[in-house]
Amino acid sequence: MKNGAVRAHGASRKKIALRFFSKHRPPPAMKCCEGGVRTKFLGKSYMILDAFIHQINNQVLEMDCIFCKIAAGVIPCFKIYEDENTLAFLDVAPCADGHTLIIPKKHSDAFVEMSPEESGRLFEAVNIVSNQIMDKMENITGLTIGMNTYETAGQTVMHTHVHIFPRFKGDGGGTTHSIVHSAKSSDPEHLKKISEKLTK
Ligand code: 5GP
Ligand code: ZN
Repeated sequence: MKNGAVRAHGASRKKIALRFFSKHRPPPAMKCCEGGVRTKFLGKSYMILDAFIHQINNQVLEMDCIFCKIAAGVIPCFKIYEDENTLAFLDVAPCADGHTLIIPKKHSDAFVEMSPEESGRLFEAVNIVSNQIMDKMENITGLTIGMNTYETAGQTVMHTHVHIFPRFKGDGGGTTHSIVHSAKSSDPEHLKKISEKLTK
């Protein structure tokens, strides 16, 4: 989603704007239209621009979001690394010693909602922190790096984050291939169709 704005579809935009307005005045009736939402208030029709909704959205998200609060220092964490755009800290319920989360300081619900530039900066930090963990954790022999993106994939905190799981010989853990087995076929014709769908 470009500019980090609320998702383009009307329902969520309407929900967020409504949530904001409901804190300040009776919820107005809203209608989604190009560039924003239209609302009636005290008999008059107002246009609420996308840019304003984006601002509201970020305020609401930052108020609600646990990782925004960690990035702002409101909630404490065990910090591992920090730069201008990124923060890395230990997971509060670790799956392995040194299980680390890396987040962009700027809120986005999920990885695919970041710009390529923002995600590039996030992954520069992932590389730095991965090396830091490999260098400093005793007996470490590998890493699993992953992101649960959206609820279907198990994302529970809706602020983009990368997990780094330190791996140790004989730790009993699986590979990324153990996560899902829903492929309908490995037939080359099937793969060709999918590649066409993804590239056209
Ligand atoms: P997800 O399931 O969204 O990919 O992972 C969210 C992760 O955030 C979980 O592993 C969970 O343990 C961790 N987590 C949730 N709340 C907090 C918190 O307040 N502090 C820290 N350090 N980790 C958290
Ligand atoms: Zn956030």
